[in-house]
Amino acid sequence: MRLIMMGPPGAGKGTQADIVCASMSVPHVSTGDIFRANVTQGTALGIEAKRYMEAGEYVPDGVTNAMVRDRLEHADCAGGFLLDGYPRTIEQVSELDSMLAAQGVGIDAVVELTVDIDEVVKRLVNRAIEQGRADDTEEVIRRRLEVFAKQTAPLTSLYASRGLLIQVSGMGDIAEVTARIEAAISASA
Ligand code: AMP
Repeated sequence: MRLIMMGPPGAGKGTQADIVCASMSVPHVSTGDIFRANVTQGTALGIEAKRYMEAGEYVPDGVTNAMVRDRLEHADCAGGFLLDGYPRTIEQVSELDSMLAAQGVGIDAVVELTVDIDEVVKRLVNRAIEQGRADDTEEVIRRRLEVFAKQTAPLTSLYASRGLLIQVSGMGDIAEVTARIEAAISASA
């Protein structure tokens, strides 16, 4: 299966993606995780990405698309994958469309986790304290939510128009949300 997990920062995408990937045996492709790994390793990509991430801005499409293209060409993605945090812009959608078209495959479903915005801010502040993420200060959190609303929220209607969008409430405990996601994916298959 080829899945996309969408939702605002703090919706629980990463946590749910990990669980769904383990149960479906597909690789979890998280652009945020790949960027963070590059920042930690001090690669050229990490140095470039860091300044955008710390400001709550998106890394430029050219950089992000090239990174995803490379990742999806790995053998483990041949039978399916779950994209977490990508695509986030209309240009990334077009680029993903062409990557998949070249392989003669397509996305099976787009899961959007919907959450209450006050809850999201609370989660992000807690995560900043637990993980010490530099992009989780209150100012940056606010900026990340604004960028999401402007650039990424419109992608849901685009995928809805393709009949691929599944909206799932991300509120409640982790197991409850996972059960909703898995039920929604099976119902759509
Ligand atoms: P995430 O962990 O998915 O919230 O991503 C953390 C940060 O990495 C984002 O705030 C962006 O700066 C950057 N990032 C992750 N995915 C993308 C993407 N698809 N396009 C642009 N920037 C991204």
